[in-house]
Amino acid sequence: MKTIIEPFRIKSVEPIYFNTKEERKTILENAYHNTFLIKSNDVIIDLLTDSGTSAMSSEQWAGIMRGDESYAGSPSFFRFEETIRQITGMPLVIPTHQGRASEKILFSILGGKGKYFVSNTLFDTTRANIEFSGAEGVDLLCEEGKHPSIPAPFKGNMDTAAFKSFIAEKGAENIPLCMITVTNNSGGGQPVSMQNIKDVKKICVENNIPLFIDACRFAENSYFIKLREEGYANVSVREIAKELFSYADGSTMSAKKDAFANIGGFLAMYSEDLALKCRNLLVITEGFPTYGGLAGRDLEAIAIGLNEVLDENYLQYRIRSIEYLTEKLVKAGVPVMQPAGGHAVYLDAKAFLSHITVTQYPGQALVCALYTEGGIRSVEIGSLMFGKYDENQNLVPAALELVRLAIPRRVYTQSHIDYVAEVIIEVFQNKATIKGLSITEEAAILRHFTAKLKPIQ
Ligand SMILES: *Cc1c(COP(=O)(O)O)cnc(C)c1O
Repeated sequence: MKTIIEPFRIKSVEPIYFNTKEERKTILENAYHNTFLIKSNDVIIDLLTDSGTSAMSSEQWAGIMRGDESYAGSPSFFRFEETIRQITGMPLVIPTHQGRASEKILFSILGGKGKYFVSNTLFDTTRANIEFSGAEGVDLLCEEGKHPSIPAPFKGNMDTAAFKSFIAEKGAENIPLCMITVTNNSGGGQPVSMQNIKDVKKICVENNIPLFIDACRFAENSYFIKLREEGYANVSVREIAKELFSYADGSTMSAKKDAFANIGGFLAMYSEDLALKCRNLLVITEGFPTYGGLAGRDLEAIAIGLNEVLDENYLQYRIRSIEYLTEKLVKAGVPVMQPAGGHAVYLDAKAFLSHITVTQYPGQALVCALYTEGGIRSVEIGSLMFGKYDENQNLVPAALELVRLAIPRRVYTQSHIDYVAEVIIEVFQNKATIKGLSITEEAAILRHFTAKLKPIQ
């Protein structure tokens, strides 16, 4: 088989500003060893997130120019609506400024004290919106999803037996909605199988619980189904996506992921009653129902992006590029989550820096080392992000200490990815020199964004 090439040519480029290792040491110190506090021009390869960082196509830029900015009834809205109807089959489409705005509207209506929202894994903004309403979020991930080094084809699946017992325990009337996240972002970008969605749907129907899809990476998930699930090898990704959505009663999406847009999102559903309530909230928080929180040009870019992401040459390149980086690291003995997910590579920092205890934040120490060595920006998903304190102010660590390298869509080429692998392998070979960190200042919530740290000598 020949090399899988980037399925695009480059028309417009952005410069990368190079700096030296000595300069990066100073930049990191000035940013208190928190890469969220570094200016993006000081980063050589930015793998902080795949959200809103995609390169738009020439067609999307043309759409931006065509965007109609009428307050009501813009043709850009109707193209947006029609595209989402075609892909999801859902008739009622509500534009929002990003995924969490869709969540805020949905859970303000359905949430409240005493309610439970069940999922394979709720993304952090989703969980935050559920909890803000007074309700509880419940993650029921399958067993294989909880072990980073054990490969399995669909590690994003929901545990259906646990779902049944949860309903028996709490009562279906207290579960206003079940939400399946595709792919499972917080669980390593791992896909959910069609069979699992069907099984969950069956339980939902038996108990009169609506099923929603958090569809941020629906195309990547659909492509994994084509590759890995029996009976789908010869089905188009568009058809697979259509089937996936056909089991759902509604969907939320952030267009900053699989729609290749820099901003945007939507809610889609069948229920007229729920849509009416959503639109009533939309007008006071986002905007008029034919633009939501977006400009007409954003609606155009999203409509075009949603069709482009279903191109199977693109998806082959996309999934392969994550797998390619994972393979290089595995070959060099670097501990990574397996198999490769759809949008990011996850390093297992606990195994990578086994000489650093979890109370000294090995994940963040690794994030800092990757920046210093090669100017690569990644993000810690471990005890800095999710750690809590007990009553004696001792750290209660997160279950896993991961470092996520999220790959922006259509932005970096194979040589950029080769460089990333070289830097990680170099850091791995010199890992004994890396020191742990302690926190000197932190906020009460979402502390990883602003925390200040210093190396432990
Ligand atoms: C990004 C994301 C969201 C939230 O979307 P925003 O556009 O960042 O508000 C929700 N769910 C998942 C799975 C995501 O990846």
